[in-house]
Amino acid sequence: MGKATKDDLFKKIIAHAKEYGFIFQSSEIYDGLSAAYDYGQFGVELKNNIKEYWWKSMVQYHENIVGLDSAIFMHPSTWKASGHLDAFNDPMIDNKDSKKRYRADELIEDHLAKLQGKIDKETKKAAKRFGDNFNEEQFKTTHPRVLKYSGKIQSIKARMIKALENDQLDELKNIIEEENITCPVSGSANWTDVRQFNLMFSTELGSTVDDNNKIYLRPETAQGIFVNYLNVQKSGRMKLPFGIAQIGKAFRNEIVARQFIFRMREFEQMEMQFFVRPGTEMDWFEYWKDERIKWHKTLGIEDKYYQLYKHEKLAHYANAAYDIEFKFPFGFKELEGIHSRTDFDLSAHQKHSGKKLQYYDSENDESYVPYVVETSIGLDRMFLAVLSSAYKEEKLEDDSERIVLNIPPILAPYKAAVFPLTKKDNLPQKAREIMDQLKYQFNCQYEEKDTIGKRYRRHDAIGTPYCITVDHQTLEDNTVTIRERDSMKQDRIPIVKLESIIKKRLSIH
Ligand code: ATP
Repeated sequence: MGKATKDDLFKKIIAHAKEYGFIFQSSEIYDGLSAAYDYGQFGVELKNNIKEYWWKSMVQYHENIVGLDSAIFMHPSTWKASGHLDAFNDPMIDNKDSKKRYRADELIEDHLAKLQGKIDKETKKAAKRFGDNFNEEQFKTTHPRVLKYSGKIQSIKARMIKALENDQLDELKNIIEEENITCPVSGSANWTDVRQFNLMFSTELGSTVDDNNKIYLRPETAQGIFVNYLNVQKSGRMKLPFGIAQIGKAFRNEIVARQFIFRMREFEQMEMQFFVRPGTEMDWFEYWKDERIKWHKTLGIEDKYYQLYKHEKLAHYANAAYDIEFKFPFGFKELEGIHSRTDFDLSAHQKHSGKKLQYYDSENDESYVPYVVETSIGLDRMFLAVLSSAYKEEKLEDDSERIVLNIPPILAPYKAAVFPLTKKDNLPQKAREIMDQLKYQFNCQYEEKDTIGKRYRRHDAIGTPYCITVDHQTLEDNTVTIRERDSMKQDRIPIVKLESIIKKRLSIH
């Protein structure tokens, strides 16, 4: 798919999300607030279903994982201990002509992607020229231009990683200048110096404005888990290994907040910290990587949307990290992180608070600070992953078109819609009876306005797996027609079978 089509598709998804009540720009009547979004009537259902699917598979299905809901405000020392006050920075650079601000590392990465694009283009051209005789491996390791590009990519990448690790902002600027990277808006290379920018939002506690009262909005939910580690372990009599899971808001003053709900300044995370005996963390790291991939695949979203990325540059707290990347309309990007966080956080909180955060291991008769493996997924990014992979424009046999959201049924806002064929002849009463029978089990919608065809289209567009229609025959023999969203197949079935049919569609394995 070319760039224009990709952008097009993304724009259509954003427009669809608004038109059908999934996502609105925050404070839209005041022209909006950038990087903040509101979830509308169908969006909130989808979002709640994602949360429930995550919560159940983490907390309910694992005997050794429990939940937590900690406060957004935390003692300021938390952020000193976690390293966020000193190190939660992004290197930023401004273009003096366009006045646009960028993350320096992202500018460089975009440049590297362009170089990679050149390699891909050369390879494609050669593949066409050589036909069946083409040996891609040989081509890539011998062709002079390709070798030049790949050598350049490697050396720039290595320089960038080193510069980021050692906080060498000048070096990032050197790379941008040497590579003549220009601003996508102004096209100029008239850059400021690279500066660090802390991503935490701050505010004051109480009524007086005083630096001592400064507190932060949490940039991740994880720290609420760490500071409660001992509370949960003791009160729950938890034995290692065990996990604490939490869903909640996090806030980051992102330098460049674009791409819709992919990068927001206020967003939600679903995080689980798994506490383990030191030395076993790599086994658990592999275990959780596999478990989390399974969680995604169980939804039935095609494999081609997922890829794993192993981190070369590790965060200050990690000794290993993977990203589960998703093929968003704008390319593969991080959806979830699996990090081996060592004992960094608990040890730091122990040091800063002066309180022991150790575990007494009765089997081995020793005490230690547990190691931690974390799984962290952005709820809003998961929402975008589901929405964007579900969005389909289909041409039908009769040449008409429809937009359908093939949302995994378990996540769909409504599981079924109930329609009387017409508003007459007691059909609405019968349809209401069915609605009353189903609504305590499944989220359903009753609709009698518009033609049946229009009602079908509307529910295709919000991803409702089943539409149930009550007609005159229903009054005679208690059967209804049930139409399936993806195949559009209609069957006539007895009303008593409705529950089991819907339930079957919602089961996951
Ligand atoms: P990125 O590199 O994209 O900024 P990150 O590596 O900083 O992400 P983490 O700190 O690992 O992200 O956060 C865990 C998860 O939280 C991410 O995988 C992502 O799904 C989500 N997330 C992080 N920042 C944002 C944001 N600004 N908006 C929405 N979701 C976010």
